[in-house]
Amino acid sequence: MASPIELYDTTLRDGTQMEGISLSVEDKLKIARKLDELGVHYIEGGWPGSNPKDAEFFARARSLVLRNARLAAFGSTRRAGSSAESDLNLRALVDAGTPVVTIVGKAHDRHVTRILETTTEENLAMIADSVRYLKSQGLLVFFDAEHFFDGFASDRGYALQCLKTAAGAGAGCVVLCDTNGGTITSTVAELVRVVAEQVDCAVGIHTHNGADVAVANSLAAVRAGAVHVQGTINGYGERCGNANLSAIIPDLELKLGLRCLPEGKLKELYDLSHFVAEVANLAPDEHMAYVGRSAFAHKGGIHVAAVRRNPRSYQHIDPELVGNELRVVVSELSGRGSLLSKAEELGLGDVGKEEVSAALQRIKDLEARGFSFEASDASVVMMMRRLESEYRPPFELVDYVVMVENRQGRGTFAEANVKISINGEIAHTAAEGNGPVNALDAALRKALTPVYPELNGFHLSDYKVRILDGQNGTAATTRVLIDTRNAHHQWSTVGASANIIEASWQALVDSVEYGLHEAKEEAGSHA
Ligand SMILES: [Zn+2]
Repeated sequence: MASPIELYDTTLRDGTQMEGISLSVEDKLKIARKLDELGVHYIEGGWPGSNPKDAEFFARARSLVLRNARLAAFGSTRRAGSSAESDLNLRALVDAGTPVVTIVGKAHDRHVTRILETTTEENLAMIADSVRYLKSQGLLVFFDAEHFFDGFASDRGYALQCLKTAAGAGAGCVVLCDTNGGTITSTVAELVRVVAEQVDCAVGIHTHNGADVAVANSLAAVRAGAVHVQGTINGYGERCGNANLSAIIPDLELKLGLRCLPEGKLKELYDLSHFVAEVANLAPDEHMAYVGRSAFAHKGGIHVAAVRRNPRSYQHIDPELVGNELRVVVSELSGRGSLLSKAEELGLGDVGKEEVSAALQRIKDLEARGFSFEASDASVVMMMRRLESEYRPPFELVDYVVMVENRQGRGTFAEANVKISINGEIAHTAAEGNGPVNALDAALRKALTPVYPELNGFHLSDYKVRILDGQNGTAATTRVLIDTRNAHHQWSTVGASANIIEASWQALVDSVEYGLHEAKEEAGSHA
């Protein structure tokens, strides 16, 4: 059965207009493949007439095998005072070799006269000629009516005439664009209804988020008769962004009951959103609706207790429907229930009630001193493990010394000495590093790897330092977060102290101890 609503993704064209985003041709091809797997109907790949990178994308996209989506090239109506056949921009659209082209044209009388500097009649001819020409080349043509909503307010008759002209020339869809993103939802609904009644063509919607209602405007348009929705993954786009498909898709499917993806695909949305963020080299927005890491995270003790009894009590949908998950955030606000949930989530099924109570008290004390366990699950696990009576740590610190020197001709360098006890044996090592923490890490590894060779597979993937209560200047508490990776997992640990070296040491020890314990468990379960 055909979907009642068509999704038109413009991440690769309008999305790349965002400040701070730059996609290579290779990146765009990767994203196009994923969008196709998700099952959107159209993927707008770029503007082949505007830059060589987009032209190269379309050349390489010819060998893309798409199962669900059709590729679209974007351009504008022909230039004023010329013919469609001789227009280089339209030629480039045909040469792009896509089955679909989308052309943007003016629908606002004053933009025609003041910005294009031509007559309103010529603009209508430009729309008609361009659509007709592209149709004659065997293409499906969509018409993006730029500034439609503002144009309607300026001269409603003319704005509608632009749409009717495109429809009359054979456009497959007239897309109403809120180009500036300032139109409010009730107006969008009203105008889409007028267009759906008066224009004999499928109606689409393309909104921007200038007034923070792009998603709401898209949904209102659908309720009013639009059957084609344009947007970008994660709402990427110029200024405040485009309409966010990562929210529109589940809104349409789960709230309005309108299927727009193939069966079973909605649960891939979380991964797709994070994939696109990663390829674009942007940190994912953790608080984004549906697909943010915090979208179903529970922190307050009462909420966590209620969610444990009934997941629907503080969640508007089952997170698994979009591939996300319920997450318990452990903090000083947590109750015992939160920590029990966390223990379950982390696979610490055997933790007793007393350990949980003791761990909770310790978390509250440590958070008061500047620790933060919200993003440091491995430190929470280590805290609970260390409270178990049968737990034996893989090593214990005897002492460490760190020196930082700045010698003439050599610049700054650091050296660390570490003395630790491994199963009662003392290991004493020294190592150099480009900084004190690096030297400490190297000395600790040197001492441990003869006994624990698996440590060679651990890599520090991120090291973040945050100064708390900054008004104390250099005496402030420093919080250190360390991310560590091995071939299979990544884990995060925390340390906090007035001394940055001590804070780093704490996070480092948790990281190594957690990793060694996990590696041992895994080796045991594979044996
Ligand atoms: Zn746009």
